[in-house]
Amino acid sequence: MRKLRVDVAIVGAGTAGMSAYRNVKEHTSSVMVVENKSYGTTCARSGCMPSKLLIAAAEAANMMKEANAFGIHTRDILIDGVAVMDRVRRERDRFVNYVVESVNEWPSEHKIMGHAKFIDGHVLQIDDHTQIRADRIIIANGSRPVIPEEWKTLLGNRLLSSDDVFEWKNLPSSVAVFGTGIIGLELAQALHRLGVRVRVLGRSGRVGILTDPSLQSLSKAIFSDELPLEAAPKNIKVSRQGDQVLVEWENQDRQQKDQFDLVLAATGRTPNIDNLCFDVTGIPVNEEGFPAFDRNTGRIANSHIFIAGDVTDERAILHEASDAGHIAGKNAGLYPKESPCPRRTPLSVVFTDPQLSIAGKSFSEIEKSGIDYAVGEVSFSNQGRSRVMLKNRGGLRVYAEKQSGKLIGAEMIGPAAEHIGHLLAWSVQRGDTIQQMLQYPFYHPVVEEGLRTALRQLQKNLHQHLDPILITHCLD
Ligand SMILES: Cc1cc2nc3c(=O)[nH]c(=O)nc-3n(C[C@H](O)[C@H](O)[C@H](O)COP(=O)(O)OP(=O)(O)OC[C@H]3O[C@@H](n4cnc5c(N)ncnc54)[C@H](O)[C@@H]3O)c2cc1C
Repeated sequence: MRKLRVDVAIVGAGTAGMSAYRNVKEHTSSVMVVENKSYGTTCARSGCMPSKLLIAAAEAANMMKEANAFGIHTRDILIDGVAVMDRVRRERDRFVNYVVESVNEWPSEHKIMGHAKFIDGHVLQIDDHTQIRADRIIIANGSRPVIPEEWKTLLGNRLLSSDDVFEWKNLPSSVAVFGTGIIGLELAQALHRLGVRVRVLGRSGRVGILTDPSLQSLSKAIFSDELPLEAAPKNIKVSRQGDQVLVEWENQDRQQKDQFDLVLAATGRTPNIDNLCFDVTGIPVNEEGFPAFDRNTGRIANSHIFIAGDVTDERAILHEASDAGHIAGKNAGLYPKESPCPRRTPLSVVFTDPQLSIAGKSFSEIEKSGIDYAVGEVSFSNQGRSRVMLKNRGGLRVYAEKQSGKLIGAEMIGPAAEHIGHLLAWSVQRGDTIQQMLQYPFYHPVVEEGLRTALRQLQKNLHQHLDPILITHCLD
């Protein structure tokens, strides 16, 4: 057994682990990163990037289908599944190689392959070959798809998770997608638009991430209009029928069934905290097995152990994992001194069509917080630019604190939500009042004019009088 001693050990070479490594190195060169699968990160290998590549192909196919409405008639559209998946994998590999190249530049004494688990608070066992004693440890070992155990036995190789989709050499002809969260919706819509027969089965009745009841119903209506979607099916049964899967469920007391090539379980992800034997550290955990930690330092319960990224089960998105890795790396480097870092305003985007976004506080967070707030809203169905582009579906609701007149959050389903979500998150982070936001320029004709409509309504609902010297008084 090889025995090593380092100042800082990092478990996981994903986005959070790599960001932590860069920051630790500012303080010590005695550092070791442990990775148990492959370099390249979940984002590049099987997450953000390949999913957006598949969605981009689906958008191209959909644009051709929608061209008729503009008087542009295309002949039969041929979707070449082999070529679609070939581009997805080629471009994915480019992104992965870029990440792998940067890991290749790390000195060999800074990295080790193998599964890490704690054998005490300061010692990690790596497979059966190495023990690393570390003064400080950063846990950055990500999350994995949750797949119902009994389905694995029942369905064998007919059951997939999102990890498998981007290895396909061709598109299948039919897939039952379980899950109406981010991953389920993005992949189901993309596959549907690429000609795969899809049925989406949810559980809770919710479709997508929006928490505002009026936008949640709009999401359900919009996605159900395009996709065969059961938001809350009951008594689901799956069974293998030769090379196919039979899916049975109840819908409003009616028995339904359908047969598919494959089942895609997009039923959530679970943090990998459970694969570390964390309990031997003696640090208390809550009922779900998570230790308390400080989001501004990454430090777990005043210990020498830090945590970052999806493994924390909080805001499981890329830029948050990267920030959290930065913070944990810096603080592990400085330990026992601390340098708390403020966190950015929350921002989520879902790359469906129409896109979804939440900026700042969600509706449900605002409701729970007891803040006295006012709402402004707009529907995109008659919004000028959206109608021009034939993207006139959806709505936006913006929320402001009554006392200060500041924007505190927004939810949106609609065109360009990936961009509008940024504008809104930046305003929340700056502490803009609605009056200040209305002073920014709005070009014509753009989707942002829809945002201005919602802001004007919000300004009225705040019962605020405009300051006479402000430009909005003259022009709005
Ligand atoms: C299909 C999909 C689409 C997504 N799309 C988006 C998107 O559009 N935008 C966005 O912001 N986010 C998106 N995400 C989320 C984003 O990919 C993650 O938030 C991010 O990759 C998390 O980074 P991480 O460093 O925490 O984990 P990872 O990158 O998963 O890194 C963890 C690493 O730890 C390793 N590991 C695990 N256990 C051990 C162990 N015991 N010992 C050693 N190594 C271990 C793993 O092999 C892995 O390499 C998507 C995710 C998925 C799955």
